[in-house]
Amino acid sequence: MSSLKIIHNHKNCIGCNACVLIAPQSWRMNQKTGKSELIGAEKKGNLFITDIFECDKQANQDAAEACPMNIIKISS
Ligand code: SF4
Repeated sequence: MSSLKIIHNHKNCIGCNACVLIAPQSWRMNQKTGKSELIGAEKKGNLFITDIFECDKQANQDAAEACPMNIIKISS
């Protein structure tokens, strides 16, 4: 079981779509809110958190680097 987590500060998302393009296995756009969503994530306050597998780490690191709001974090 992976202990890698992605954390998304959803409130500050501007819906630029970069994370969805780079890591579609983990991200999708919500057309109603105009913000991205971390697939399968649990809400904790303003944050959404989910576990990811090691094989999805690189794509999510790339998404985190591409995010213009710097609101995607990866922790282990
Ligand atoms: S890259 Fe960042 S700002 Fe852009 S949609 Fe994803 S989380 Fe939101």
